[in-house]
Amino acid sequence: MEDNNTNKRKLTTASGRPYAEHENTQSVGSRGPLLLQDFILHEKMAHFNRERIPERVVHAKGTGAYGTFKVTHDISKYTKAKIFSKIGNECKVFLRFSTVGGEKGSADSERDPRGFAVKFYTEDGNWDLVGNNTPVFFVKDPKKFSDFIHTQKRDPRTNLKSPTMMWDFWSLNPESLHQVAILMTDRGTPFSYRHMDGFSSHTYSMIDKDNKRVWVKFHFKTQQGIKNFTGPEADAMRTTDMDHSQRDLVDAIDRGDFPRWSLKIQVMTEEQAKTFRWNPFDLTKVWPHAEFPLIDAGVLELNQIPRNYFAHVEQSAFAPSNTIDGIGYSPDKMLQGRILSYADAHRYRLGVNYEQIPVNACPFMINNYHRDGHMRIDGNGEEGPNYYPNSFGDVVPDESYKEPAWELESNVADWYDRNAGPGDDDHYTQPGDLFRKVLDEEGKRNMINNIVGAMSGITGPKRDKIINLQLCHWFRADIGLGMAIAKGLGVDVDQAMPKQHS
Ligand code: NDP
Repeated sequence: MEDNNTNKRKLTTASGRPYAEHENTQSVGSRGPLLLQDFILHEKMAHFNRERIPERVVHAKGTGAYGTFKVTHDISKYTKAKIFSKIGNECKVFLRFSTVGGEKGSADSERDPRGFAVKFYTEDGNWDLVGNNTPVFFVKDPKKFSDFIHTQKRDPRTNLKSPTMMWDFWSLNPESLHQVAILMTDRGTPFSYRHMDGFSSHTYSMIDKDNKRVWVKFHFKTQQGIKNFTGPEADAMRTTDMDHSQRDLVDAIDRGDFPRWSLKIQVMTEEQAKTFRWNPFDLTKVWPHAEFPLIDAGVLELNQIPRNYFAHVEQSAFAPSNTIDGIGYSPDKMLQGRILSYADAHRYRLGVNYEQIPVNACPFMINNYHRDGHMRIDGNGEEGPNYYPNSFGDVVPDESYKEPAWELESNVADWYDRNAGPGDDDHYTQPGDLFRKVLDEEGKRNMINNIVGAMSGITGPKRDKIINLQLCHWFRADIGLGMAIAKGLGVDVDQAMPKQHS
Protein backbone atom coordinates (compact mmCIF):
# COMPACT_ATOMS: atom_id res chain seq x y z
CA MET A 1 0.00 0.00 0.00
CA GLU A 2 1.60 3.31 -1.09
CA ASP A 3 1.01 6.75 0.36
CA ASN A 4 0.53 9.06 -2.62
CA ASN A 5 1.92 12.04 -0.74
CA THR A 6 5.26 10.66 0.32
CA ASN A 7 5.84 7.65 -1.95
CA LYS A 8 6.54 5.66 1.20
CA ARG A 9 4.66 2.50 2.01
CA LYS A 10 2.17 2.71 4.86
CA LEU A 11 2.95 0.88 8.06
CA THR A 12 0.14 -1.55 8.80
CA THR A 13 -0.86 -4.10 11.38
CA ALA A 14 -0.43 -7.76 10.44
CA SER A 15 -4.04 -7.67 9.29
CA GLY A 16 -3.37 -4.71 7.00
CA ARG A 17 -4.80 -1.76 8.89
CA PRO A 18 -2.66 1.36 8.44
CA TYR A 19 -1.29 2.36 11.80
CA ALA A 20 -0.65 5.84 13.07
CA GLU A 21 1.93 5.36 15.81
CA HIS A 22 4.66 2.76 16.21
CA GLU A 23 6.88 3.85 19.06
CA ASN A 24 4.61 5.06 21.86
CA THR A 25 2.03 2.86 23.56
CA GLN A 26 -1.40 4.19 24.54
CA SER A 27 -1.33 5.10 28.22
CA VAL A 28 -3.34 6.93 30.85
CA GLY A 29 -1.42 10.15 30.91
CA SER A 30 2.29 10.29 30.44
CA ARG A 31 2.99 8.80 33.90
CA GLY A 32 0.12 6.29 33.98
CA PRO A 33 -0.24 2.59 33.12
CA LEU A 34 -0.63 1.28 29.57
CA LEU A 35 -3.94 0.50 27.93
CA LEU A 36 -4.82 -3.08 27.12
CA GLN A 37 -6.55 -1.92 23.97
CA ASP A 38 -3.26 -1.02 22.28
CA PHE A 39 -3.16 -4.35 20.49
CA ILE A 40 -0.18 -3.26 18.36
CA LEU A 41 1.93 -3.58 21.50
CA HIS A 42 0.65 -7.13 21.95
CA GLU A 43 1.13 -7.97 18.30
CA LYS A 44 4.74 -6.75 18.39
CA MET A 45 5.61 -8.50 21.63
CA ALA A 46 3.82 -11.72 20.78
CA HIS A 47 5.42 -11.99 17.36
CA PHE A 48 8.85 -11.23 18.77
CA ASN A 49 8.43 -13.96 21.39
CA ARG A 50 7.84 -16.46 18.61
CA GLU A 51 10.63 -15.44 16.21
CA ARG A 52 12.85 -18.45 16.80
CA ILE A 53 12.05 -21.82 15.34
CA PRO A 54 13.86 -24.89 16.63
CA GLU A 55 17.50 -24.89 15.69
CA ARG A 56 18.52 -27.80 13.49
CA VAL A 57 19.93 -30.51 15.79
CA VAL A 58 22.81 -30.88 13.34
CA HIS A 59 23.98 -28.42 10.66
CA ALA A 60 22.54 -25.50 12.66
CA LYS A 61 25.04 -22.87 11.45
CA GLY A 62 24.81 -22.34 7.73
CA THR A 63 24.42 -20.09 4.75
CA GLY A 64 22.93 -20.53 1.31
CA ALA A 65 22.56 -19.17 -2.19
CA TYR A 66 20.55 -19.67 -5.35
CA GLY A 67 22.13 -20.48 -8.67
CA THR A 68 21.95 -22.62 -11.77
CA PHE A 69 22.98 -26.10 -12.76
CA LYS A 70 23.88 -26.71 -16.39
CA VAL A 71 24.52 -30.06 -18.06
CA THR A 72 27.88 -29.95 -19.87
CA HIS A 73 28.43 -33.64 -20.71
CA ASP A 74 26.15 -36.40 -21.88
CA ILE A 75 25.44 -38.98 -19.16
CA SER A 76 22.06 -39.94 -20.59
CA LYS A 77 23.26 -43.49 -21.19
CA TYR A 78 23.16 -43.98 -17.42
CA THR A 79 19.98 -42.10 -16.54
CA LYS A 80 16.65 -41.19 -18.04
CA ALA A 81 16.40 -38.17 -15.70
CA LYS A 82 15.08 -35.37 -17.92
CA ILE A 83 17.56 -32.86 -16.57
CA PHE A 84 20.37 -35.01 -18.01
CA SER A 85 18.60 -35.74 -21.33
CA LYS A 86 20.82 -33.36 -23.31
CA ILE A 87 23.82 -31.10 -23.01
CA GLY A 88 22.78 -27.54 -22.25
CA ASN A 89 19.81 -28.40 -20.04
CA GLU A 90 19.57 -26.07 -17.06
CA CYS A 91 17.68 -25.81 -13.81
CA LYS A 92 17.62 -23.49 -10.83
CA VAL A 93 19.33 -24.69 -7.64
CA PHE A 94 19.55 -23.72 -4.00
CA LEU A 95 22.62 -24.75 -2.01
CA ARG A 96 23.00 -24.59 1.76
CA PHE A 97 26.42 -24.93 3.34
CA SER A 98 26.88 -25.55 7.04
CA THR A 99 29.05 -26.77 9.83
CA VAL A 100 27.71 -29.82 11.64
CA GLY A 101 28.22 -29.89 15.39
CA GLY A 102 28.06 -26.24 16.43
CA GLU A 103 25.05 -24.18 17.39
CA LYS A 104 23.66 -21.38 15.23
CA GLY A 105 26.08 -18.87 16.72
CA SER A 106 29.19 -21.04 16.51
CA ALA A 107 32.31 -20.22 14.51
CA ASP A 108 32.55 -21.11 10.82
CA SER A 109 36.17 -22.21 11.11
CA GLU A 110 35.60 -25.06 13.60
CA ARG A 111 37.19 -28.42 12.75
CA ASP A 112 34.08 -30.18 11.52
CA PRO A 113 32.71 -31.67 8.30
CA ARG A 114 30.83 -29.11 6.21
CA GLY A 115 27.31 -29.71 4.93
CA PHE A 116 26.79 -29.36 1.18
CA ALA A 117 23.04 -29.66 0.49
CA VAL A 118 21.74 -28.95 -3.01
CA LYS A 119 18.16 -28.67 -4.20
CA PHE A 120 17.73 -28.96 -7.97
CA TYR A 121 14.34 -27.56 -9.04
CA THR A 122 13.68 -29.88 -11.99
CA GLU A 123 10.54 -30.28 -14.06
CA ASP A 124 10.31 -33.83 -12.69
CA GLY A 125 10.26 -32.60 -9.10
CA ASN A 126 12.80 -31.32 -6.64
CA TRP A 127 15.93 -33.44 -6.43
CA ASP A 128 17.96 -33.03 -3.22
CA LEU A 129 21.54 -34.18 -2.84
CA VAL A 130 22.21 -33.73 0.86
CA GLY A 131 25.93 -34.27 1.19
CA ASN A 132 29.05 -33.13 2.97
CA ASN A 133 32.50 -31.93 1.96
CA THR A 134 33.82 -35.41 2.66
CA PRO A 135 33.10 -38.60 0.71
CA VAL A 136 32.56 -40.79 3.80
CA PHE A 137 30.92 -40.66 7.23
CA PHE A 138 31.63 -41.67 10.84
CA VAL A 139 29.12 -44.53 11.10
CA LYS A 140 27.51 -46.93 8.69
CA ASP A 141 24.27 -47.76 10.52
CA PRO A 142 21.77 -44.97 11.27
CA LYS A 143 21.07 -46.45 14.71
CA LYS A 144 24.45 -45.05 15.79
CA PHE A 145 23.78 -41.55 14.49
CA SER A 146 22.22 -39.93 17.56
CA ASP A 147 24.88 -41.44 19.86
CA PHE A 148 27.60 -40.09 17.60
CA ILE A 149 26.08 -36.62 17.42
CA HIS A 150 25.69 -36.44 21.20
CA THR A 151 29.48 -36.76 21.42
CA GLN A 152 29.90 -33.77 19.12
CA LYS A 153 27.56 -31.60 21.17
CA ARG A 154 27.94 -30.63 24.83
CA ASP A 155 28.69 -32.64 27.94
CA PRO A 156 25.44 -33.15 29.90
CA ARG A 157 26.95 -31.82 33.15
CA THR A 158 29.51 -29.20 32.17
CA ASN A 159 27.69 -28.05 29.02
CA LEU A 160 31.13 -27.90 27.40
CA LYS A 161 32.41 -29.57 24.24
CA SER A 162 34.25 -32.70 25.29
CA PRO A 163 37.19 -34.25 23.42
CA THR A 164 36.87 -37.13 25.87
CA MET A 165 33.34 -37.96 24.65
CA MET A 166 34.40 -37.64 21.00
CA TRP A 167 37.47 -39.86 21.22
CA ASP A 168 35.75 -42.34 23.52
CA PHE A 169 33.08 -42.87 20.87
CA TRP A 170 35.53 -42.92 17.95
CA SER A 171 37.91 -45.33 19.69
CA LEU A 172 35.03 -47.73 20.37
CA ASN A 173 33.79 -47.42 16.77
CA PRO A 174 36.73 -48.14 14.47
CA GLU A 175 34.49 -47.72 11.40
CA SER A 176 34.77 -43.97 12.10
CA LEU A 177 38.53 -43.97 11.43
CA HIS A 178 38.38 -42.97 7.77
CA GLN A 179 36.17 -39.96 8.40
CA VAL A 180 38.16 -38.99 11.50
CA ALA A 181 41.38 -39.20 9.45
CA ILE A 182 39.99 -36.85 6.79
CA LEU A 183 38.65 -34.52 9.49
CA MET A 184 42.10 -34.31 11.07
CA THR A 185 43.75 -33.22 7.81
CA ASP A 186 43.56 -29.58 6.82
CA ARG A 187 40.38 -30.38 4.89
CA GLY A 188 38.73 -30.48 8.32
CA THR A 189 39.12 -26.69 8.40
CA PRO A 190 38.29 -25.36 4.90
CA PHE A 191 39.21 -21.73 4.22
CA SER A 192 35.65 -21.11 3.03
CA TYR A 193 32.65 -22.88 1.54
CA ARG A 194 33.76 -21.82 -1.94
CA HIS A 195 37.06 -23.63 -1.63
CA MET A 196 35.90 -27.15 -0.83
CA ASP A 197 34.43 -30.09 -2.71
CA GLY A 198 31.00 -31.60 -2.07
CA PHE A 199 29.99 -35.26 -2.16
CA SER A 200 26.73 -37.16 -2.21
CA SER A 201 28.74 -39.50 0.00
CA HIS A 202 25.97 -42.08 -0.32
CA THR A 203 25.76 -44.45 -3.21
CA TYR A 204 22.66 -43.77 -5.27
CA SER A 205 21.40 -45.46 -8.43
CA MET A 206 20.78 -44.26 -11.94
CA ILE A 207 18.18 -45.89 -14.14
CA ASP A 208 18.33 -45.60 -17.92
CA LYS A 209 15.53 -45.52 -20.49
CA ASP A 210 15.57 -49.34 -20.68
CA ASN A 211 15.11 -49.50 -16.91
CA LYS A 212 18.66 -50.76 -16.35
CA ARG A 213 20.32 -49.75 -13.07
CA VAL A 214 23.86 -48.70 -12.24
CA TRP A 215 25.18 -47.50 -8.86
CA VAL A 216 26.54 -43.95 -8.70
CA LYS A 217 28.32 -41.54 -6.41
CA PHE A 218 28.13 -37.77 -7.01
CA HIS A 219 31.15 -35.46 -6.60
CA PHE A 220 31.11 -31.64 -6.78
CA LYS A 221 34.66 -30.48 -7.45
CA THR A 222 35.33 -26.85 -6.61
CA GLN A 223 36.51 -24.70 -9.52
CA GLN A 224 37.89 -22.18 -7.02
CA GLY A 225 40.58 -24.67 -5.97
CA ILE A 226 40.93 -26.38 -2.60
CA LYS A 227 42.07 -23.96 0.09
CA ASN A 228 42.26 -24.81 3.78
CA PHE A 229 43.25 -23.28 7.06
CA THR A 230 45.93 -25.02 9.06
CA GLY A 231 44.84 -25.82 12.61
CA PRO A 232 46.43 -22.67 14.10
CA GLU A 233 44.99 -20.48 11.30
CA ALA A 234 41.50 -21.88 11.93
CA ASP A 235 41.88 -21.24 15.67
CA ALA A 236 42.90 -17.66 14.94
CA MET A 237 39.96 -17.12 12.57
CA ARG A 238 37.56 -18.23 15.31
CA THR A 239 38.46 -15.11 17.24
CA THR A 240 38.91 -12.78 14.24
CA ASP A 241 35.67 -13.51 12.38
CA MET A 242 33.20 -16.12 13.61
CA ASP A 243 31.24 -15.79 10.35
CA HIS A 244 34.16 -15.99 7.95
CA SER A 245 32.64 -18.52 5.53
CA GLN A 246 29.29 -16.77 5.45
CA ARG A 247 30.99 -13.42 4.75
CA ASP A 248 33.23 -14.96 2.10
CA LEU A 249 30.26 -16.38 0.17
CA VAL A 250 28.11 -13.25 0.40
CA ASP A 251 31.01 -10.96 -0.57
CA ALA A 252 32.02 -13.12 -3.53
CA ILE A 253 28.50 -13.31 -4.97
CA ASP A 254 27.81 -9.64 -4.30
CA ARG A 255 30.93 -8.65 -6.28
CA GLY A 256 29.89 -10.94 -9.17
CA ASP A 257 32.57 -13.56 -8.50
CA PHE A 258 30.19 -16.51 -8.80
CA PRO A 259 31.54 -19.76 -7.35
CA ARG A 260 31.28 -22.90 -9.47
CA TRP A 261 31.57 -26.62 -8.93
CA SER A 262 31.90 -29.34 -11.58
CA LEU A 263 29.45 -32.17 -11.01
CA LYS A 264 31.01 -35.55 -11.72
CA ILE A 265 29.79 -39.07 -11.15
CA GLN A 266 31.39 -42.43 -10.44
CA VAL A 267 29.56 -45.39 -11.92
CA MET A 268 29.60 -49.03 -10.78
CA THR A 269 27.60 -51.72 -12.54
CA GLU A 270 25.47 -54.16 -10.58
CA GLU A 271 27.90 -56.90 -11.65
CA GLN A 272 30.95 -54.94 -10.46
CA ALA A 273 29.20 -54.33 -7.13
CA LYS A 274 28.98 -58.06 -6.50
CA THR A 275 32.75 -58.54 -6.69
CA PHE A 276 34.05 -55.19 -5.34
CA ARG A 277 36.41 -55.89 -2.43
CA TRP A 278 34.43 -53.61 -0.12
CA ASN A 279 30.69 -53.18 0.31
CA PRO A 280 29.92 -50.47 -2.29
CA PHE A 281 27.06 -49.26 -0.06
CA ASP A 282 29.24 -48.78 3.02
CA LEU A 283 29.34 -45.05 3.79
CA THR A 284 32.72 -45.33 5.49
CA LYS A 285 34.44 -46.31 2.22
CA VAL A 286 35.19 -44.57 -1.09
CA TRP A 287 35.39 -46.09 -4.55
CA PRO A 288 39.01 -45.62 -5.73
CA HIS A 289 39.23 -43.27 -8.70
CA ALA A 290 41.58 -45.54 -10.63
CA GLU A 291 38.89 -48.24 -10.76
CA PHE A 292 35.85 -45.95 -10.94
CA PRO A 293 36.97 -42.76 -12.71
CA LEU A 294 35.13 -39.48 -12.37
CA ILE A 295 32.78 -38.80 -15.30
CA ASP A 296 31.88 -35.18 -16.07
CA ALA A 297 28.20 -34.26 -15.95
CA GLY A 298 27.66 -30.53 -15.41
CA VAL A 299 28.49 -27.27 -13.70
CA LEU A 300 26.76 -25.70 -10.73
CA GLU A 301 27.08 -21.94 -10.25
CA LEU A 302 25.86 -19.86 -7.30
CA ASN A 303 24.89 -16.36 -8.31
CA GLN A 304 22.25 -14.98 -5.96
CA ILE A 305 22.22 -14.43 -2.21
CA PRO A 306 18.60 -14.69 -1.07
CA ARG A 307 17.00 -11.37 -0.20
CA ASN A 308 16.06 -12.66 3.23
CA TYR A 309 18.14 -15.15 5.23
CA PHE A 310 15.38 -16.54 7.43
CA ALA A 311 12.84 -16.96 4.63
CA HIS A 312 15.18 -18.87 2.37
CA VAL A 313 18.13 -20.28 4.31
CA GLU A 314 16.71 -20.93 7.76
CA GLN A 315 13.51 -22.39 6.31
CA SER A 316 15.23 -24.45 3.62
CA ALA A 317 14.65 -28.16 4.05
CA PHE A 318 16.49 -30.86 2.13
CA ALA A 319 15.73 -34.57 2.14
CA PRO A 320 17.68 -37.41 0.52
CA SER A 321 14.27 -38.99 -0.12
CA ASN A 322 13.72 -36.34 -2.81
CA THR A 323 14.97 -38.07 -5.93
CA ILE A 324 13.64 -37.80 -9.47
CA ASP A 325 12.75 -40.26 -12.18
CA GLY A 326 16.01 -41.84 -13.36
CA ILE A 327 17.82 -41.38 -10.04
CA GLY A 328 17.06 -43.78 -7.18
CA TYR A 329 18.22 -45.04 -3.82
CA SER A 330 20.67 -47.81 -2.97
CA PRO A 331 20.90 -50.25 -0.06
CA ASP A 332 23.35 -47.86 1.71
CA LYS A 333 22.06 -48.27 5.28
CA MET A 334 22.77 -44.66 6.21
CA LEU A 335 20.87 -43.46 3.16
CA GLN A 336 17.99 -45.72 4.12
CA GLY A 337 17.91 -44.12 7.58
CA ARG A 338 18.15 -40.60 6.18
CA ILE A 339 15.30 -41.23 3.75
CA LEU A 340 13.14 -41.44 6.87
CA SER A 341 14.74 -38.99 9.26
CA TYR A 342 15.19 -35.85 7.16
CA ALA A 343 11.57 -35.31 6.20
CA ASP A 344 10.65 -36.20 9.79
CA ALA A 345 13.00 -33.51 11.13
CA HIS A 346 11.44 -30.90 8.82
CA ARG A 347 7.91 -31.84 9.84
CA TYR A 348 8.95 -31.23 13.45
CA ARG A 349 10.91 -28.02 12.80
CA LEU A 350 8.83 -26.35 10.10
CA GLY A 351 5.51 -28.19 10.16
CA VAL A 352 3.86 -30.80 8.04
CA ASN A 353 3.36 -28.43 5.10
CA TYR A 354 7.02 -27.35 4.99
CA GLU A 355 7.24 -28.16 1.29
CA GLN A 356 4.93 -25.23 0.54
CA ILE A 357 7.48 -22.70 1.84
CA PRO A 358 8.77 -21.01 -1.33
CA VAL A 359 12.40 -22.19 -1.01
CA ASN A 360 11.20 -25.78 -0.63
CA ALA A 361 8.28 -25.70 -3.07
CA CYS A 362 8.51 -27.49 -6.38
CA PRO A 363 7.89 -24.76 -8.99
CA PHE A 364 6.37 -27.33 -11.33
CA MET A 365 3.63 -29.92 -10.81
CA ILE A 366 2.42 -31.03 -7.35
CA ASN A 367 -0.78 -33.11 -7.08
CA ASN A 368 -1.65 -35.42 -4.22
CA TYR A 369 -4.25 -36.31 -1.64
CA HIS A 370 -2.45 -34.83 1.39
CA ARG A 371 -4.82 -32.39 3.03
CA ASP A 372 -4.98 -29.90 5.89
CA GLY A 373 -2.36 -29.54 8.62
CA HIS A 374 -0.76 -26.43 10.10
CA MET A 375 -0.11 -23.54 7.71
CA ARG A 376 -1.69 -25.07 4.62
CA ILE A 377 -1.55 -22.17 2.18
CA ASP A 378 -1.81 -23.64 -1.31
CA GLY A 379 -5.57 -24.04 -1.68
CA ASN A 380 -5.54 -27.48 -0.06
CA GLY A 381 -6.63 -29.31 -3.21
CA GLU A 382 -9.54 -26.88 -3.63
CA GLU A 383 -12.84 -28.71 -4.22
CA GLY A 384 -11.16 -31.84 -5.64
CA PRO A 385 -11.64 -35.25 -4.06
CA ASN A 386 -9.50 -35.91 -0.97
CA TYR A 387 -9.43 -39.71 -1.27
CA TYR A 388 -8.16 -42.27 -3.74
CA PRO A 389 -9.39 -44.16 -5.70
CA ASN A 390 -12.27 -41.94 -6.70
CA SER A 391 -14.58 -41.52 -9.68
CA PHE A 392 -14.28 -37.75 -9.97
CA GLY A 393 -10.69 -36.56 -10.14
CA ASP A 394 -7.85 -37.03 -12.60
CA VAL A 395 -4.94 -37.35 -10.17
CA VAL A 396 -3.64 -40.88 -10.66
CA PRO A 397 -0.34 -42.77 -10.32
CA ASP A 398 1.64 -43.51 -13.47
CA GLU A 399 3.20 -46.98 -13.60
CA SER A 400 5.81 -45.91 -16.11
CA TYR A 401 7.73 -44.33 -13.22
CA LYS A 402 8.23 -47.71 -11.56
CA GLU A 403 11.88 -48.56 -10.86
CA PRO A 404 13.31 -52.00 -11.67
CA ALA A 405 13.10 -54.47 -8.78
CA TRP A 406 16.10 -55.06 -6.52
CA GLU A 407 17.58 -58.48 -6.32
CA LEU A 408 18.74 -59.02 -2.72
CA GLU A 409 21.55 -61.33 -1.70
CA SER A 410 19.97 -62.64 1.47
CA ASN A 411 16.55 -63.54 2.76
CA VAL A 412 17.69 -63.79 6.38
CA ALA A 413 16.44 -60.97 8.62
CA ASP A 414 18.60 -60.38 11.70
CA TRP A 415 20.47 -57.52 13.44
CA TYR A 416 22.99 -56.00 11.05
CA ASP A 417 26.32 -57.80 11.51
CA ARG A 418 28.57 -54.88 10.58
CA ASN A 419 31.75 -56.96 10.23
CA ALA A 420 30.36 -60.05 8.53
CA GLY A 421 30.94 -59.35 4.84
CA PRO A 422 34.20 -59.35 2.89
CA GLY A 423 36.22 -56.25 3.76
CA ASP A 424 33.61 -55.05 6.26
CA ASP A 425 36.07 -55.03 9.17
CA ASP A 426 38.74 -53.30 7.10
CA HIS A 427 38.49 -49.85 8.63
CA TYR A 428 42.16 -49.23 8.01
CA THR A 429 43.24 -49.54 4.35
CA GLN A 430 41.53 -46.40 3.08
CA PRO A 431 42.60 -44.00 5.87
CA GLY A 432 46.08 -45.52 5.55
CA ASP A 433 46.03 -44.83 1.80
CA LEU A 434 45.02 -41.26 2.47
CA PHE A 435 48.03 -40.78 4.73
CA ARG A 436 50.55 -42.71 2.61
CA LYS A 437 49.47 -41.93 -0.93
CA VAL A 438 47.49 -38.70 -0.98
CA LEU A 439 49.03 -36.34 1.58
CA ASP A 440 52.33 -34.59 0.92
CA GLU A 441 54.89 -34.10 3.71
CA GLU A 442 53.31 -30.89 4.95
CA GLY A 443 49.84 -32.47 4.85
CA LYS A 444 51.10 -35.42 6.91
CA ARG A 445 52.78 -33.15 9.45
CA ASN A 446 49.64 -31.05 9.85
CA MET A 447 47.44 -34.13 10.21
CA ILE A 448 49.67 -35.52 12.96
CA ASN A 449 49.74 -32.17 14.77
CA ASN A 450 45.97 -31.83 14.50
CA ILE A 451 45.43 -35.33 15.91
CA VAL A 452 47.90 -34.81 18.73
CA GLY A 453 46.28 -31.46 19.57
CA ALA A 454 42.78 -32.93 19.52
CA MET A 455 43.64 -36.09 21.48
CA SER A 456 45.49 -34.03 24.08
CA GLY A 457 42.08 -32.76 25.18
CA ILE A 458 41.09 -36.23 26.46
CA THR A 459 40.88 -36.09 30.26
CA GLY A 460 39.54 -38.05 33.23
CA PRO A 461 39.91 -41.55 34.63
CA LYS A 462 39.53 -43.27 31.24
CA ARG A 463 42.10 -41.07 29.52
CA ASP A 464 44.80 -43.71 29.06
CA LYS A 465 42.35 -46.41 27.97
CA ILE A 466 40.81 -44.15 25.32
CA ILE A 467 44.18 -42.92 24.05
CA ASN A 468 45.63 -46.43 23.83
CA LEU A 469 42.62 -47.85 22.02
CA GLN A 470 42.59 -44.99 19.51
CA LEU A 471 46.34 -45.36 19.02
CA CYS A 472 45.76 -49.01 18.05
CA HIS A 473 43.48 -47.80 15.24
CA TRP A 474 46.01 -45.25 13.98
CA PHE A 475 48.71 -47.95 14.06
CA ARG A 476 46.55 -50.31 12.06
CA ALA A 477 46.01 -47.60 9.45
CA ASP A 478 49.71 -46.80 9.20
CA ILE A 479 52.61 -47.66 11.52
CA GLY A 480 54.40 -44.38 10.83
CA LEU A 481 51.24 -42.39 11.56
CA GLY A 482 50.66 -44.29 14.80
CA MET A 483 54.25 -43.82 15.95
CA ALA A 484 54.19 -40.09 15.22
CA ILE A 485 50.94 -39.61 17.15
CA ALA A 486 52.19 -41.69 20.09
CA LYS A 487 55.37 -39.63 20.18
CA GLY A 488 53.39 -36.38 20.04
CA LEU A 489 51.22 -37.54 22.94
CA GLY A 490 54.25 -38.69 24.94
CA VAL A 491 53.03 -42.30 25.02
CA ASP A 492 55.59 -45.06 25.54
CA VAL A 493 54.36 -47.52 22.92
CA ASP A 494 56.07 -50.54 24.52
CA GLN A 495 54.24 -49.84 27.77
CA ALA A 496 50.89 -48.93 26.28
CA MET A 497 50.27 -51.55 23.61
CA PRO A 498 49.08 -55.08 24.33
CA LYS A 499 52.03 -57.51 24.21
CA GLN A 500 52.28 -59.83 21.18
CA HIS A 501 52.51 -63.49 22.17
CA SER A 502 54.30 -65.87 19.83
P1 NDP B 1 43.25 -40.61 -5.76
O1 NDP B 1 44.71 -40.27 -5.62
O2 NDP B 1 42.70 -40.93 -7.09
O3 NDP B 1 42.38 -39.44 -5.17
C1 NDP B 1 42.70 -38.88 -3.95
C2 NDP B 1 41.51 -38.08 -3.51
O4 NDP B 1 41.80 -37.58 -2.22
C3 NDP B 1 41.18 -36.89 -4.39
O5 NDP B 1 39.80 -36.86 -4.57
C4 NDP B 1 41.62 -35.69 -3.56
O6 NDP B 1 40.76 -34.60 -3.75
C5 NDP B 1 41.38 -36.24 -2.19
N1 NDP B 1 42.15 -35.62 -1.12
C6 NDP B 1 43.34 -35.00 -1.15
N2 NDP B 1 43.67 -34.59 0.08
C7 NDP B 1 42.67 -34.98 0.89
C8 NDP B 1 42.43 -34.84 2.27
N3 NDP B 1 43.28 -34.22 3.05
N4 NDP B 1 41.30 -35.35 2.77
C9 NDP B 1 40.41 -35.97 1.97
N5 NDP B 1 40.59 -36.14 0.66
C10 NDP B 1 41.71 -35.64 0.14
O7 NDP B 1 43.03 -41.78 -4.71
P2 NDP B 1 41.94 -42.92 -4.51
O8 NDP B 1 40.67 -42.68 -5.22
O9 NDP B 1 42.62 -44.21 -4.72
O10 NDP B 1 41.70 -42.75 -2.94
C11 NDP B 1 42.79 -42.70 -2.04
C12 NDP B 1 42.29 -42.06 -0.79
O11 NDP B 1 41.90 -40.74 -1.09
C13 NDP B 1 41.05 -42.73 -0.21
O12 NDP B 1 41.37 -43.78 0.63
C14 NDP B 1 40.37 -41.62 0.49
O13 NDP B 1 40.86 -41.49 1.80
C15 NDP B 1 40.78 -40.37 -0.29
N6 NDP B 1 39.69 -39.87 -1.14
C16 NDP B 1 39.18 -40.64 -2.15
C17 NDP B 1 38.07 -40.22 -2.83
C18 NDP B 1 37.41 -41.08 -3.84
O14 NDP B 1 36.25 -40.84 -4.15
N7 NDP B 1 38.09 -42.08 -4.40
C19 NDP B 1 37.45 -38.91 -2.56
C20 NDP B 1 38.14 -38.15 -1.56
C21 NDP B 1 39.18 -38.65 -0.86
P3 NDP B 1 41.10 -33.46 -4.86
O15 NDP B 1 40.96 -34.13 -6.17
O16 NDP B 1 40.06 -32.41 -4.62
O17 NDP B 1 42.49 -32.99 -4.57
